[in-house]
Amino acid sequence: MVTQTTTTTVDMAAIEDAQAVTLLMQLLEQTKEGEYSCAETFDLLDEYVEIVAANEQEAVNLMPYVRLHLDHCKGCTEMYETLLQVLQGP
Ligand SMILES: [Zn+2]
Repeated sequence: MVTQTTTTTVDMAAIEDAQAVTLLMQLLEQTKEGEYSCAETFDLLDEYVEIVAANEQEAVNLMPYVRLHLDHCKGCTEMYETLLQVLQGP
């Protein structure tokens, strides 16, 4: 009985390791060189939106990779538009 419990624990750890590796692989695949991940974009989105509200061209000049990410990421674009609406008011 004790042996079975130990085996189960080891198996669970192995599964969790495999999941972590898979997740890491997915993150690496999604993040190409010179491009931001969603997390990196999200970190900068507040700042980016504030600059856009003042001068959109300046925002693109200062943070081109945020613009690049928004061009091909629907989720972040939706977040960006929501933040911009909040900032600009009704
Ligand atoms: Zn994204």
